[in-house]
Formats: sequence, C-alpha cells, structure tokens
Amino acid sequence: MRLMTYNSIYQKIKISGNGCILFSSDRALNDQSRRLESMTVHRPCANGFALLIHSMPSPLFQPAQAFVSRRNSLDLLKRFTETRNLNLGKAINAHLIRMFQLDLIQANYLINLYVKCGQLHLARRLFDIMPERNNVSGNALMAGYFHAGFPLEALDVFKSMDLSQLSCGPNEYMLTTLLASCAEVRALEEGQQCHEYALKSGLVSHSYVRNALLHMYSKCSGMEDALQVFRTIPSFDIFAFNSIINGFLEHGQLNYAMEVVSGMVKEVAWWDHVSYVAVLGLCADSKDLNLGRQIHSQILRRGVEFSVFVGSAIVDMYGKWGDVQSSRCAFDGLLNKNVVSWTAVMAICTQNGCFEEALKLFLEMEVVGFRPNEFTYAVALNACAGLSALKNGDALNAHAEISGYKAHLTVGNALINMYSKSGSIDDAKRVFTSMPHHDIISWNSIITAYSHHGLANEALEAFHKMLKEEVPTYVTFIGVLSACGHLGLVDEGFYYLNHLMREVGIRPGVEHYTCIIGMLCRAGLLDEADRFMRYTCVDWDIVAWRTLLSACQVHRNYGLGQKVGEHILKLDPDDVGTNILLSNMYAKAHRWDGVVNIRKLMRERDIKKEPGVSWIQVRNETHVFASEDKKHPWMSQINEKVAELIAQIKLIGYVPNIGSVLHDVEDEQKEEYLRYHSEKLAIAFGLICTPPGAPIHVMKNLRMCDDCHIATKLISVVTNRKIIVRDANRFHCFESGICSCDDYW
Ligand SMILES: [Zn+2]
Ligand SMILES: [Zn+2]
Repeated sequence: MRLMTYNSIYQKIKISGNGCILFSSDRALNDQSRRLESMTVHRPCANGFALLIHSMPSPLFQPAQAFVSRRNSLDLLKRFTETRNLNLGKAINAHLIRMFQLDLIQANYLINLYVKCGQLHLARRLFDIMPERNNVSGNALMAGYFHAGFPLEALDVFKSMDLSQLSCGPNEYMLTTLLASCAEVRALEEGQQCHEYALKSGLVSHSYVRNALLHMYSKCSGMEDALQVFRTIPSFDIFAFNSIINGFLEHGQLNYAMEVVSGMVKEVAWWDHVSYVAVLGLCADSKDLNLGRQIHSQILRRGVEFSVFVGSAIVDMYGKWGDVQSSRCAFDGLLNKNVVSWTAVMAICTQNGCFEEALKLFLEMEVVGFRPNEFTYAVALNACAGLSALKNGDALNAHAEISGYKAHLTVGNALINMYSKSGSIDDAKRVFTSMPHHDIISWNSIITAYSHHGLANEALEAFHKMLKEEVPTYVTFIGVLSACGHLGLVDEGFYYLNHLMREVGIRPGVEHYTCIIGMLCRAGLLDEADRFMRYTCVDWDIVAWRTLLSACQVHRNYGLGQKVGEHILKLDPDDVGTNILLSNMYAKAHRWDGVVNIRKLMRERDIKKEPGVSWIQVRNETHVFASEDKKHPWMSQINEKVAELIAQIKLIGYVPNIGSVLHDVEDEQKEEYLRYHSEKLAIAFGLICTPPGAPIHVMKNLRMCDDCHIATKLISVVTNRKIIVRDANRFHCFESGICSCDDYW
C-alpha cells in the first residue's frame, strides 16, 4: 500500500503537539467517537479534533506514541460521513497525512466524506494529489459534481484521470455517471464514445448503463437513437420505459410515444407512479381519450395509491380534454388535496370557460380550511375577468389585500387583466401604477388594456416607457399594432412590423398582420388592405378576412365587401359571423333579395344566428337579457324606461337607424325591433337599479349594432352617466355623447 505524504494540503488544520489517538477496541472506538462528536458541538472548529485529544484525560490517550489503526480510521471515516461531521473528517485527514498513513482506500473514504458534506473543492484537491486512483475515487468525485449540478466538472475529472490506473477501464458506475453528465451538457460525441465503450466492454448488459445511454440519446440527439437502445432491452424495464416516454414527450413526438405505450399496456402491472404521470400527460397532450380512460380505470382497479402527482395528472388530463366534469370528479376523489391541486382544478375550470364553477371552488376551498396563495388569487381573478364580474373582482381585490397577497406580481397582473376586461380601465391603471415592480406581463397587460379600451395614445406611451425597462414580446406588439390601428398610424405601424420587431428578434405572426389589416381599414385604405392580404405570404385566418369584411361594411364599400364575404364563405360556408355581416351589408343597401338568399342558405345549412345577449351585474347578481326578451320580472318597468329614454334622445336628434334591422318588414315595425335589442334593455335596467351618477357596465356577446351605438351615445348625454359596453370586438366607453371607439368597431 502506497503511503501519501502530503502534509501541506491541510495546513489550515493545525494539530498541536503530537496529539494522536489510539483505540484499543471497537467498543472503545464507539465510545470515543461519540465523545468526540458531543464535544465538537461545543467547539466547532477545524482543529477541534486536536484540541479534544489534549483535553481528554482518558488513559486511552498516549500522545507520544499514538497512531490510528487503519481499520479504525476507516470505521471513523464511515461514521463521520454518515453523521456529516466535516470537522472530524478533516482532522482524520490531517492526522493520516501527518503519520504517512493515507492510502488509496482511506483517500476514497475521505473523498466520499467531503462530497457528502458538500465540500467538493476539498474532494477535488485531495483527488488531484492522489498518486494512485481507481474507479471508486473517480466515480465518487464525478457523481458528487454531477449531483451538485456541475456536469462539466464531472467530465473534467474524468478527462484528468490516467485511465491506465484503472485495472480494466471505467466500470459500470463510472460509465453511468459519465453518460448522465454527457446528457446534461448535450455532449453527443462523448456520449457516443461511451456507447462504443459500453458495447466493447460488455457493460451495456447492465440495465442502468442502458438506461443512461437511452437518456443521453434522448437528450442529445433525436429519439431515433434512443429508440434503438430501447429495442435492445430484453424484458420490461420500468426505468427505460419512463425515460423513453418522457423523452418523446419532451421532443413533442406524441405518436411515437403512443406506439411505445400501446406496446407496454400489457406490462401495466409493473408501472410505477412516474410511468403513470408520464403516460397520463401523454394522453392529455395527444387527446387520446380511450387510452386515458383505460389507464385511469386500471389505476382504480389496481388500487394504486393516489399520490398527489398521479391524482393531479388525472385531474389535469381531463382538464386538457376540456372535460371539466370528469376532472372535477377526479379532483373530488383525491385523498390528499393541497392548495396546488385546488388551484389546478380552478385553473382548469377557468381555461374551459366555467368561470362561475372556478369561483365556487375558491369559496369551497376556504370553507375546508385551505388558504389561497398568489396563484389561487390570480386564477380566481381570471375567472372574474371571464365573467366581467367587476363586483366579485373588487371583493377578491380586497381579500388579497387583507391576506397580504396583493403585493405579488402575479396578483397585480391578474388584477390589471380583471379590471380591464370588466370595463374599468381607471382601476386597471391604478393597480398598474401602485405596483412596486413591473414585469413584461404587467406591461403587456396594461398596453393591451389601453388598446382594448380605445386609449391608443396611452397604449403607445406605455410602450415607449416599457422599452426602457423590458424587451417587448410577441404579445406586446399585438397591443401596440392594434393601438396604431386605432389611431390610423399607418407609417408607424409598418415601422414596428418591419423594423422594430425584426430588431428584437420577433417573427410577426398572423395576429400582427391582422392588426395591420385593421390599421389599413381604419385609415380607409381598403383596396391596399385587400392587396396586402392577397400578396403577403401569410396563412390568413378567418379573423383577418372578417376584419376586412366589417371594414367594407363601415366604409360602405359593398362591392369589395361582397367579394371578400364570398371568399370567406368559400373557406368556411358555415361561418355564422360572415353570413350575418354579408346579410347586414345587403340590408344596408336595401338589397332584401340578398338578405333573403343568405337567410335561406343559413336555414338550409342549419346555421343559427347566435341570439344577441347582454348582461349586467347589479348587487352581485348577473341579469341576462336576450333581444326581444319578455321574461325578466322587471320587464314592464324596463319597457317604460326604454320608451322614456327613446323619447328623450329623439329630442336631441336620435333617428332610429332602421338599416340595422335584418328583417324585411315595414319601417315602423323595424323601429319596434330596435327598441328591444338586448343592450338597450340591459342599459335601461342598469339605470333603474343604480344610484344617479354611477357608471353602468354592460357586456354583449355580439357586435353592438349601429343603432344601439348611436342611442347609447345620446343616452349618456340625457342621463349624464358613463356607460361602458363590452361587445364581441372591444370596449365602448360612452360619455357625454362620445364613444371611446370613435365610431369604428
Ligand atoms: Zn342594437
Ligand atoms: Zn363605440
């Protein structure tokens, strides 16, 4: 056994005098180490060991002639590693060096001790000066680096080793660590060399070497190579199975993953929780309802104990399929719920449009004693945004303030979104300015909010302020370009699209191009818009064409409108919006034959016009009005109010715009129809139920018609109220006879 003579390494550890230790028996060793440990608690210093020896009057100590037997030193090192006692480990290290006793095995024990105590630099220093090393030394240090998140250092250790010292090359453990490190740093070439070596040395027969290879390929190259390794595995191997599925999922190759899973369904008895989570995630992403349900029932049949992870994966899978009901059932069946799973199921409801359900869950969660966190608040606020439920949103705002979560960035951002979508841009602005910090989401939220509310100048101002702090993103430019559209800033819009976006490295998408169409239309450049659409290589969607179509309607360019409308109906004959816009256009041109024709086609194809519905929140209750609705309990008062309002606004110039009526009926009757448009009913109801001067917030599912728009402008004058209407396209804020949309929507 070679001895090591490196007294200098640990000069910092000074052992005074000849302080040494001699243990006569194993029992004594136990007692001794216990005493050492208990005493170092009081003197936690590097030389505690030495001080201790001096302070011990035990007859075991014979300072002048002491030495530590090799066996004792190994036992001590093992014990100190288990108890993570770094100081005593260092002391032994110093002692062994001083006594010229440090051999390979002891050095390996010491490396292990340093690694376990998180002292990688000490382990490395010792490793570097070892005259002799073996697989154990190398792997202990490499694994230490790898697990501490330094895979490059692990590879560096390997490169620094003299492989001729290893009796027969790296063993399976070292090879596994090597492959794992290659995977982390995407070192494909080195990984391939390891593969070659594994084949030549026969180490590939070890299942963990194969799994490491599989993992390395799935990280570094395509799944093709990983699959090749997978195919060489003779029987079902749970780790390989999990690796290959997760690899495919990471690469988004759902079809291949599905193939592997289908082949392994019969092996389900051996699946573990990791497999279930991976496979359920796969079923969620690939929307494979059959397999997903099959796996779920297998889990129930096998009585697999639901870990929170498996349970949440099931909840999530149903949620991604849009099956809120089953997701709720799975959630209700969870034995261990926590705030994360509550928040997750609320998020699923919100994403699938079940906003009220999400808010109910929020209340339930509080009742059973779980405190919401910042994400729960954010989800609940998003649900309020979906409902435009300003009152509930206000209540949540107060709730978050009391519980101390309002200061969280996520909550602030969700509040901006909620206030903006509920029609209260002033509150959104207040939240934004009161936030101590803004991130890109805060900026995007406020820019988008201004833009939706027609405050295009404010949106652009916020954008220029943002540029000093953040780099704009894809979403930012949607808000900015739509603001440019609102102001008709054609040159500026094209500058952002063609220069600034390129400068910050964002490839414009169809949303941005659609904003450009909106911008050209707004500026009245319909033919340019039409040309831009035909000659720009973009995969235009129906939204873009519809933007052009409605512009044709606004600018009364019925010739182009008809062309565009027919083009859209070629793409999607069942598009309700286009059928209605075309029909509106014919109606405006008094071409009742065209109206009748479209209505006939719609009847034939069984396309139903979505009924116009408006709703308003009064004292936490939502009142819904359909056009020509007669069911509301307050209907007679509402009718009276509408008649009163119409009479009042006629005095200041209101003329019913009967062009907005689709029906081919007598003019007097058309005027009757207009009175009962759902937004007029909701506004009248709001005026009855709210105190004078209070703003009125109304939501509508369709685009507001021209007549209601003019009427509401005038109603805002005669009642001296601010009336905010969110329709399918945007917000209209009516005040003193003016709408924030500048009559363009
Ligand atoms: Zn209307
Ligand atoms: Zn408007």
